[in-house]
Amino acid sequence: MLKTFEYLQPKTLEEALSMMKSCKGSFRLIAGGTDVIVQIRSGKTPPDYLISLKALNKELGILEEKEEGLDIGALVTHRILEKSPTIQKEYAALYDGVSQVGSVQVRNVGTIGGNVCSSLPSADSAAPLLILGAKLNIVGDREESICIEEFFTGPGENILKNNQILKSIFIPKLPKNSNSAYEKLGRRKAMEIPVVGAASYIQVDKKTGICLDARIALASSAPTPIRCYKAEQTLVGQSAEKEIFVKAGKLAAQEANPRTSFRATEEYRRSVIPVLVERSLSRSLNRIKK
Ligand SMILES: Cc1cc2nc3c(=O)[nH]c(=O)nc-3n(C[C@H](O)[C@H](O)[C@H](O)COP(=O)(O)OP(=O)(O)OC[C@H]3O[C@@H](n4cnc5c(N)ncnc54)[C@H](O)[C@@H]3O)c2cc1C
Repeated sequence: MLKTFEYLQPKTLEEALSMMKSCKGSFRLIAGGTDVIVQIRSGKTPPDYLISLKALNKELGILEEKEEGLDIGALVTHRILEKSPTIQKEYAALYDGVSQVGSVQVRNVGTIGGNVCSSLPSADSAAPLLILGAKLNIVGDREESICIEEFFTGPGENILKNNQILKSIFIPKLPKNSNSAYEKLGRRKAMEIPVVGAASYIQVDKKTGICLDARIALASSAPTPIRCYKAEQTLVGQSAEKEIFVKAGKLAAQEANPRTSFRATEEYRRSVIPVLVERSLSRSLNRIKK
């Protein structure tokens, strides 16, 4: 039988933070609930309280384009992000990631904050946010901004303390002649978390075709979403073309630490990483050329 819990509905961020402090017993924050409810139903994490963030839309549900970049409130849903022309055009890897989460129904309620805070290695927004240089704005006793690289600590684990909430995500504006992409391999085309996901970002000199900057990140390839720094380094200063993308893919596979699960074996995941990295880099490059 489902364990009973109290459902708390703060109306402001301040009230939510104060409830988190005064809760006598275990609690979980809930945004869209597409992870939390599934976990509670399966009996894994029955808390004494659920603290709903739903009424905090005014503070946490804003998608705002600024001169320096994009501010995404933690409560913004995948569907809103997917439909944003700015994200489709300028933050294409994030578009690729969020538009492939579950189904339209899941994307209508699932939030980007929930996806990041679930901190699963398979989270489809994580690898795109890693290569886009995202910063996380966290509130608790004080407000702080951290690089997303510092956030994930293990499967389903992150640095958030019991009194902290993810408020928003900031993505800096990308420089000229750069673009990004995310390739997801699932066992089927929809309603499937990735067996492996590969995100990439490159900036090229349009005259010479030389790669000026590169970032590569993987999903479902290690205990947390990861950056592949060695693979990135191999691209910089080289002519941006298939041969070097294949080399970067092979290096990324060496940097990965995948596991065997019912979805795929470690060997299989390692063997598809180079393919997905190469495809992702080629797509990033094609997007620059368009
Ligand atoms: C059928 C189905 C298919 C799915 N397919 C995919 C998929 O293809 N790819 C994928 O990546 N995911 C998938 N998911 C997982 C899920 O939909 C996403 O991770 C979603 O983004 C979670 O967001 P949410 O708002 O529902 O999070 P919730 O379930 O509300 O919360 C998730 C976790 O984050 C914490 N949390 C939420 N918001 C905050 C915040 N602002 N600050 C601090 N902590 C917070 C919660 O306490 C909880 O631990 C799927 C889920 C279902 C049910």
